Amino acid sequence: MICPDRTTILSATLTQLDATVNLVMHDIAATTEELWSRYDITADNLAAIIRWCDDHDLSRHVRLYFDDNRRSVFDLVLANLDIGAFAEVVIAAPVTSIGRSGYGTTDDLRAAAGLGVRVAAHGFSHMRVASYDLVGNLLATPLGGRYRDRSGAGRHDPMTENEALFQLVEAKEHFTELLGECTEFVLPHGCYNATTVALNQRFDLYTHLATTDPGLDTGQLLRPRFPVGADDTVETLAAAITAETSNP
Ligand SMILES: [Zn+2]
Repeated sequence: MICPDRTTILSATLTQLDATVNLVMHDIAATTEELWSRYDITADNLAAIIRWCDDHDLSRHVRLYFDDNRRSVFDLVLANLDIGAFAEVVIAAPVTSIGRSGYGTTDDLRAAAGLGVRVAAHGFSHMRVASYDLVGNLLATPLGGRYRDRSGAGRHDPMTENEALFQLVEAKEHFTELLGECTEFVLPHGCYNATTVALNQRFDLYTHLATTDPGLDTGQLLRPRFPVGADDTVETLAAAITAETSNP
């Protein structure tokens, strides 16, 4: 049970800090039986989160992300749920997902943009632009390399500088051509390192690089986001967000 006072304080604190909370969803399942990964949530659970935000004056402080360009965002979310009160709704799409079975098409993305949804780049082929070794240490990006799509590389096999640049540049060009502007790159799997940030600055590519690091969004380059998964409820989200506001 959430203490009503705590939620009231949360809305007031976000106003005071002029901060936004970014929530990340992946696939939305129609029923619990159709959940196929811990990163996915049911439509009922998403509806409960939306209701909680609306009822506690939080929606205007919350940006909803739907990562990976899954069909469910078009078929279950945009078609059925009222998300008009939120600060922003963003679909993060990898270029190579567009038009594949189970994913949004170019027409879907254009129609969503027409409804006020922003489309962000989520890599060219959803590959990590930075990697970790087997025990979780962040790896450096090897210099140079060929400017090419590294689709299919292993998760502990870091892409080179020019391969990372390919993901950043080709995605930006694709979405700029499709929708006129692309100011945000949602880092595939939330991975980045100093080279990722340096490449973005050197080539003046994106205003924001969206991570899955916890925290409040006060406009910084590395945009924090809270992933919402199958185990999350309104209570766990409230606790995670409140922890960040009490320790900003
Ligand atoms: Zn993704």
